[in-house]
Amino acid sequence: MDLRGKRVVVVGLAQTGVAVARFCAARGARVTATDRKPLAELGDAAAALDGVVDRLEVGGHDEASFRAADLVVMSPGVPELPETRAARAAGVEVIAEIELAYRFLHPDAPLIAITGTNGKSTTTALAGALCAASGRPTFCGGNLGNMPLIDAVDSDANRPGGLIVAEVAGFMLEFCTSFRPRVAACLNITPDHLDRYGTLERYASMKTRVFRWQTRDDVGIANANCPLTVDGLRQSEAQPLVFSSTGEVDRGACIAPGGDAIALRLPGGGEERYPLADLPLVGRHNVENAMAAYLAARVAGVPPDAVRAGARAFRPQPHRMELVGRRGDILYYDDSKGTNVAAVAASLAGFPRPVVLIAGGVDKGGSYEPLLAALDDVCKGLVLLGEAAPLIRAAAEEHGARYPIVDAADMRDAVVRATELADGGDAVVLSPACASYDMFRNFAERGHAFRAALAAVGAEPVLPASAQESP
Ligand code: ADP
Repeated sequence: MDLRGKRVVVVGLAQTGVAVARFCAARGARVTATDRKPLAELGDAAAALDGVVDRLEVGGHDEASFRAADLVVMSPGVPELPETRAARAAGVEVIAEIELAYRFLHPDAPLIAITGTNGKSTTTALAGALCAASGRPTFCGGNLGNMPLIDAVDSDANRPGGLIVAEVAGFMLEFCTSFRPRVAACLNITPDHLDRYGTLERYASMKTRVFRWQTRDDVGIANANCPLTVDGLRQSEAQPLVFSSTGEVDRGACIAPGGDAIALRLPGGGEERYPLADLPLVGRHNVENAMAAYLAARVAGVPPDAVRAGARAFRPQPHRMELVGRRGDILYYDDSKGTNVAAVAASLAGFPRPVVLIAGGVDKGGSYEPLLAALDDVCKGLVLLGEAAPLIRAAAEEHGARYPIVDAADMRDAVVRATELADGGDAVVLSPACASYDMFRNFAERGHAFRAALAAVGAEPVLPASAQESP
């Protein structure tokens, strides 16, 4: 794609938009950068674009610029706008940042794209670690960390033999038109973001666009236990692989007989086994994430030894079921990123210890039933925080919960009460199933409050993950 002399409008000037504007300008485009926010709210963006772009249109958009453009590039999170519709009506191409990046990726640097409702970051980071362990130049980013996919274009990994791993969100796929990963995985689809998409079907159709432009030379990975992902994959030409943590699969990944290893059954190959003991991650959901990451890495040509070495050296992302404290034989896990019911239900199903759960925050409007059902077998007590506390209590009572349920005033109180309910051999888990913004700025701040509160019960901190801090 040649951007020289093209008029490009970049919509949304957070980190990705700024990177896109600079990228296009560096390739000779005449860039208009625009954001709904006024200058004062744009932080460093304006300074970063000074002297780089032709025009800055902030505090709103100018439809005339959109209609006069050769190309409009959307930042992640920016929805369809009246101006983008007008651009399209005038014959202007409107694409996502990942679509633009994709068009500049080397065909011999396999792209692995990972999407789904939950587990994207973990799986992307793990797949990236497995790829890097092979010694090949690897880019790992996308929606993950502070590395938009456009940054992959000028990275060392964008050449024959390189490997590019990207987390992609459904709303980025909405503005794709040819995005074709060599390996695409859709981990699961459960209700989330329905405020944006309206129905689960529409949300699912966005997520499974990750398979849409794949050909029979590519591989798609779906979750055998999630029909929405399998149906989406079936509609594409990609060679299908599926994973299941509960049943057998012919092609893909499942638990090996004996229960202590992941079995990979790859096209044209025999069975490969990877011990579960390699994985420093807990919970069945993480076994599923690992299955997807292992499949993706192997299909992209990462050798089995590198998969094992990469898995052993991997550490969970911060606030994703991260072991952060210990008091005698009580372990404390920070899963502050568990911000929806399906996430928490998945991470507690099959949890290796009895759990005292700290949950609550801002209710998202769905049912708590899947979470309560997952708690039946593992829960020793439930400690509730925030606005959603009365709703969760009512749902738990209706469910017939047989463990104690207590309210906490703040995170410190929650940790104290949870510790009172825990015995040696149990785990205290912060996995709120809710958003955080009634009491905290974001999930990271909530996780830090949990760690800080461990001192109140005399728990020793466990060294945090080496992985980078997330927003
Ligand atoms: P995402 O990037 O999709 O938000 P993360 O890897 O950050 O996913 O995990 C977010 C939370 O979702 C975790 O803290 C965990 O509670 C839950 N989770 C992770 N993987 C899965 C999975 N495969 N299925 C269901 N829930 C999961």
